[in-house]
Amino acid sequence: MNILVCNAGSTSLKFRLFEMPEEKELSVKKYERVTDYETGIRDYLKTLPENVKIDAVGFKTVLSKDHYGVHLIDDAVIKGMEDYMVVAPAHNTFYLKAINTFKKIMPDMPLVGVFETNFHRTIPEVNYLYPLPYEWYENYGIRKYGYHGASHSYVAGVLNEKLGKHYKAVSCHLGGSSSLSAIVDGKCFDTSFGMSLQCGVPQGNRCGDFDPYLVFFMHKYAGMSYEEIETELQKKSGFLGISGVGNDLRDILKAAACGNERAVLAFKMYAKEVTGYIGRFAAMMGGLDAVAFTGGIGENSEAVRNYVMNHIRFMGDVKMYVIPANEEIVVARETYKLMK
Ligand code: ADP
Repeated sequence: MNILVCNAGSTSLKFRLFEMPEEKELSVKKYERVTDYETGIRDYLKTLPENVKIDAVGFKTVLSKDHYGVHLIDDAVIKGMEDYMVVAPAHNTFYLKAINTFKKIMPDMPLVGVFETNFHRTIPEVNYLYPLPYEWYENYGIRKYGYHGASHSYVAGVLNEKLGKHYKAVSCHLGGSSSLSAIVDGKCFDTSFGMSLQCGVPQGNRCGDFDPYLVFFMHKYAGMSYEEIETELQKKSGFLGISGVGNDLRDILKAAACGNERAVLAFKMYAKEVTGYIGRFAAMMGGLDAVAFTGGIGENSEAVRNYVMNHIRFMGDVKMYVIPANEEIVVARETYKLMK
């Protein structure tokens, strides 16, 4: 069975075609600046030899109300994505666009959403609830859902091979957007993302954890509108907000090396928060056997890895793994499982 995995970004489309269950990669293409999705998808389909047919398309979709696992994309799934647009506006917009384009070009093709929340469905209630009125959870579904599920799930698969059945680990997906997951015996136990992707460790240009009352403070005391505050939290915070340099860690490290103090601060705040989540998760799990790093920063930044591993050395013998991200294979596997 041939499964096409489609990654949709704001201006990019990435395709990987797998023959499953053999996991043989038949084709891979990345389009960096697509004028529109329809042209991009049609261009890609033209590159496939005539004898190669696609049996299903899998998407690394983010969030859909009431659909948190792996689902054939029907009207209810699409409505759920639209309903929770306010939680993940950027991500859901792109995936809805990609899904609707595929529906137009290939109306009979099974489309499967492997939601980023899937891996986190094993988080226990005591960890996924917020200290808010319980009715908010009952009436509006307000709770921690977690994201980067395909990435953390891939890491858990590799850790299962390396560590066996019983272990306690933290998976650190560190990139343009970063999150950590506590993993016990291959299953997710807690994660640093919440209901939205606007919390946890500092992000490239989005905020991480902060005192929620500052939203009211900036509105009532500083006179900012809620829209302005939302934009600053989404686009002018994180690495960019602290350093004033940019949202890419490479630029921050360069500026830090030239003595830019706010760049040094941005690096330290990020590395400290990553370390802090590991410590919190280790205490919650009652131990820590391994820390795994993945994503653009996790795989490439020795500075971040060294900071973290030096700070947790007091915990004793904690193994460190660097695991190159492979989210698409998880989407292909899950899509294949559902189709079968
Ligand atoms: P995304 O999360 O957007 O998919 P990636 O996982 O590819 O992106 O991570 C991108 C980030 O990785 C960049 O913003 C950059 O900060 C960081 N990065 C990539 N290479 C390095 C490096 N050699 N050193 C430090 N940071 C790096």
